[in-house]
Amino acid sequence: SNTTSNRTDAKTLLSGVKNIIAVVSGKGGVGKSTVSANLALALAADGAKVGLMDADIYGPSQHIMFGVRGERPMMKDNGDGKGLIVPMERFGIKVMSIGLLIDEKQAVVWRGPMVSSAIRQFVSDVDWGELDYLIIDMPPGTGDIHLTIVQTVPVTGVIVVTTPQLVALADAKKGIAMFSQAQLKVPVIGLVENMSYFTPAELPDNKYYLFGKDGGKHLAEEFDIPFLGQIPIVQSIREGGDIGVPIMVSDDVITKKAFENFGHNTV
Ligand code: ADP
Repeated sequence: SNTTSNRTDAKTLLSGVKNIIAVVSGKGGVGKSTVSANLALALAADGAKVGLMDADIYGPSQHIMFGVRGERPMMKDNGDGKGLIVPMERFGIKVMSIGLLIDEKQAVVWRGPMVSSAIRQFVSDVDWGELDYLIIDMPPGTGDIHLTIVQTVPVTGVIVVTTPQLVALADAKKGIAMFSQAQLKVPVIGLVENMSYFTPAELPDNKYYLFGKDGGKHLAEEFDIPFLGQIPIVQSIREGGDIGVPIMVSDDVITKKAFENFGHNTV
């Protein structure tokens, strides 16, 4: 079938990539992109060669998180007359996002088939080269785009990101179910609980569980998947995302340390 040949193509095309990790979430806004960015940087800090593909076509954010907003990638001739897009390189990570190709003020109003073809181009027309890890920041939810990606790209495993409250957990469950179903059978590497609690600077021993306590942890137990850890709500994590300097490459030593440990535990 078509799907099979796409998958074979992608395998050949991404033959220099050892591990492909898709970061998924049920809901938007739970920190999927933040976790993708900092996971990529944590792995690079360990000496790995890492690329980051922003597949969140309708709401790209990695060009902002990596501070390359407004820049345009270069093209490279690969010999057969077909140009390859050279990903932006920032903090040692190769980054590709639809946000680098279209005008920000322009809304992406593509239908499914166009999105699928854009995703395929991110695989076939981007010069990823040799990588230990390609991290894919997936769109939120469980839809056609997810099927396309999983059928186009030989995904090694998925990491599920959720916040601890019920509405987010309900959607995260759908994500886990989708990827572990028989046709797809993509291994779930584990679950990350983000925005688990808040600790005010003036009360350093207090933890406030704004979205409820241990929701993600319990979900991981329920589905028998590894629990990768809890990330607190920290103002500098949000600021880092907005100014284009993710926490892993920022001066916030304490929060950075937490992410480093998290990276070690993940893969
Ligand atoms: P998603 O990719 O799931 O839509 P984002 O990673 O874009 O979510 O995060 C949504 C917003 O929340 C961003 O502004 C981000 O900086 C912020 N954010 C994410 N995780 C945290 C955290 N642990 N503490 C503080 N802010 C966070």
